[in-house]
Amino acid sequence: MKRGVIICVLAVALSLGMAPPESAHAYSLGYGRFSPPTGYWATGTLFPSAWVTPAINASNAWTNVMACDFVWSRNQVLGQLNGNYVTNYNNGADGKPGNTVYSYNGTTIIQLRINLNTYYPFATDGRSTAYDVQNTLTHEFGHGLPLNHSTYTAATMFAYTSKGETLKRSLYSDDIYGIQALY
Ligand SMILES: [Zn+2]
Repeated sequence: MKRGVIICVLAVALSLGMAPPESAHAYSLGYGRFSPPTGYWATGTLFPSAWVTPAINASNAWTNVMACDFVWSRNQVLGQLNGNYVTNYNNGADGKPGNTVYSYNGTTIIQLRINLNTYYPFATDGRSTAYDVQNTLTHEFGHGLPLNHSTYTAATMFAYTSKGETLKRSLYSDDIYGIQALY
């Protein structure tokens, strides 16, 4: 029985030169799946109440994809029971406003933790001085599916972000093809 932990992150864009070039490669599938195809998640006890709706919107971006069975569902009871949490901890200056860690048993995802690194400023209105909660979480919920990074700069699963970015709130065609390939 293969067990393991995989860590995925959304990194701060240090400069445009950091971005990988566009290429024919696009979405990339991670290891393992939710089976059945529903991911129940709970917000941590310290999660700001003003961030809950942006978090639900972020997960719904994936749930609402057509021709795909996967559902993200915020459920404080089942999310905690399954150990799937969206949290907000200060991880220090690691260059990663968001990160996702999941563990699996065989090919089934058994636990998921998405964290917003509150070392960095976050806001819900897309202001230029902070990372956008919904933007960051839409990317991290994509990791939870699990999708790895896409090479398309327009994709939600592109590896880099910047303050004020809201582009990742909406899925790009490449992201949609990715979740459809998984589920
Ligand atoms: Zn990432």
